[in-house]
Amino acid sequence: MPSTPTKIKLAAGNNKLSIHWSDGHESSYPYGYLRSKCPCATCEETAPPPEQPVGGLPILGQKPLHPERAELVGRYALQIFWSDGHSAGIYAFDHLRNLCPCLECTALREVAKSIE
Ligand SMILES: [Zn+2]
Ligand SMILES: [Zn+2]
Repeated sequence: MPSTPTKIKLAAGNNKLSIHWSDGHESSYPYGYLRSKCPCATCEETAPPPEQPVGGLPILGQKPLHPERAELVGRYALQIFWSDGHSAGIYAFDHLRNLCPCLECTALREVAKSIE
């Protein structure tokens, strides 16, 4: 049974989206990272340049990218409305869990990769 979020928080202060999962795990995604992982067809075709700072360091005179709001899509996904006007990306929960940037999940993905 895939885990589902029990709590989703857009934290304005630290530029991160945090998710508490039903299995007790906690993920926090820097906005820049999450935006670069937008799963919509447009973004998949035009991947952001690799030199784009992960985590979205604020550029002077420019508001850092952030979600204006996020809405649940049924019971399986989250739609994020970004401050740059983009909202086509539907982040499925299992996709989000796969994107978890914490050390534990990164290590698990490395193991899975080496088995493949
Ligand atoms: Zn997109
Ligand atoms: Zn994790």
